[in-house]
Amino acid sequence: VKSRGKNGYDFFDPTMEAKSLERILMENELRKAIEQEQFQIYYQPKIDIATDTLTGMEALVRWVHPELGVIPPNRFIPIAEETGMIIALGEWILRQACRQNKIWHDQGYLLKVSVNLSARQIYQKDLVEMIKQILAETELAAEWLELEITESIFVKMEEATAVLQQIRDIGIHISIDDFGTGYSSFSYIKSLPVDTIKIDASFIRDIHHNQESQAIVKAIVTIAQSLNMNVIAEGIELNDQAAALQQNGCDHGQGYLFSRPLATDDFERYLRKDQVS
Ligand code: C2E
Ligand code: CA
Ligand code: CA
Ligand code: CA
Repeated sequence: VKSRGKNGYDFFDPTMEAKSLERILMENELRKAIEQEQFQIYYQPKIDIATDTLTGMEALVRWVHPELGVIPPNRFIPIAEETGMIIALGEWILRQACRQNKIWHDQGYLLKVSVNLSARQIYQKDLVEMIKQILAETELAAEWLELEITESIFVKMEEATAVLQQIRDIGIHISIDDFGTGYSSFSYIKSLPVDTIKIDASFIRDIHHNQESQAIVKAIVTIAQSLNMNVIAEGIELNDQAAALQQNGCDHGQGYLFSRPLATDDFERYLRKDQVS
């Protein structure tokens, strides 16, 4: 409770009371949702822009509430993280994504699935065992799984690096998401055990008419090449943005230009079309 009021009676502020009540309800609903598995994974294609081919897909969770309908991750992932529910939810997401990717593999589509990992999960003590268990159970080979992490995991640099190293030792790829938004990105990137840099959407939005964004993308590509890392851009909505990316050496991308995140059925339709063309 913030103490903005003269007497510290902010607790009785009706809007604040309403807010915390909403929050309590939300937490209860989320707990129920995890028990009842009220979630769906959507898959967004990742594209090799140069050859216009599908290389993989990012798993993005949606909460399909029986009364409220679809609730986007930005509204519940932060709550799941704060309450620790992300541990159970994250495990469910990972299992689901690996299981689904194995099904697609068996159909002949050899694609890498990328799953977002919260900072909280990195510091979960049995994370590596849990991942190994899921790979064994779903029979998905480690090389077909990628985990997307953000710079926020590096609050405890050594601890996070050690966990990532163990994950890479299994053969799983690590991608650093939203790259360029953290203030220290460039100074620490060389010491991170990561395979791919994902350039944040904020640099893509205006890349077709902003030289600074072009210079930043070019710099990230140069660094990635010298460190033997891959680069991908997110949030590509326009042909001009895709062209500007290619001009600056970035050949991999993801965004509404290619496809929105798709429900499993729609992604399968997308796969079949992709194979024909
Ligand atoms: P993110 O990991 O940076 O994911 C990219 C977000 O950008 C997704 O939003 C995606 O739908 C959206 N997007 C993709 N292409 C475009 C585009 O061309 N234009 C625009 N404007 N947006 C685009 P979404 O699915 O709502 O997810 C938001 C965030 O929620 C994610 O950001 C990620 O931080 C978190 N999140 C989503 N799914 C999961 C999950 O399974 N686990 C965890 N821990 N976090 C997740
Ligand atoms: Ca991501
Ligand atoms: Ca991102
Ligand atoms: Ca993000």
